[in-house]
Amino acid sequence: MNFKTSQSYRWGLASLLVLGLVFGSRQHAFEGSELLQHRDGQLALYNTHNGEYINIRYCDVHGIWSPDAAQSFNHFLRCHADGGLMPMHPHLLEVIDRIQDHFGPDRVVHVISAYRSPKYNGYLRSVGRGVALHSYHMKGQAMDIRIPGISTRALFEYVKSLGVGGAGCYHGPNFVHVDVGPVRVWGS
Ligand SMILES: [Zn+2]
Repeated sequence: MNFKTSQSYRWGLASLLVLGLVFGSRQHAFEGSELLQHRDGQLALYNTHNGEYINIRYCDVHGIWSPDAAQSFNHFLRCHADGGLMPMHPHLLEVIDRIQDHFGPDRVVHVISAYRSPKYNGYLRSVGRGVALHSYHMKGQAMDIRIPGISTRALFEYVKSLGVGGAGCYHGPNFVHVDVGPVRVWGS
């Protein structure tokens, strides 16, 4: 490689890096959003189906996500019925983080359901479980959660107060549905 080639090669690499940083941050950070100012960037989750646990610092103080963290969340929040994967919406995880921080940053959020494959969602519909045809769970944009020590009602009221998407209350199985779709509320 002569000097000129080597120089343009280096510039090429540098531009790729800069582009990656710019687009990476646009994709994953919600700068300026009020939400960002009320979360600590660390999230502990427990999967109630398989007993897995993760505790991840997923972004830095500027709100820039670590690519490894996104991958870890995607795997952890896979469809519990068939292992199907979907990129989870970063905004959803930031909302869950904010919920966790509100009730105490040391609390662990228990995940009852996150991503659902179309096959599993179809199965739940076929057995009359009242799930939506185009559920936000199938888009990686919804999670059903509970936080031990916090009542389902208190959790629901807080999620509802955020006004960032869907909030559904399920007293029987004791969980709250959270999604980052349009603002809707159901249950009481
Ligand atoms: Zn749900």
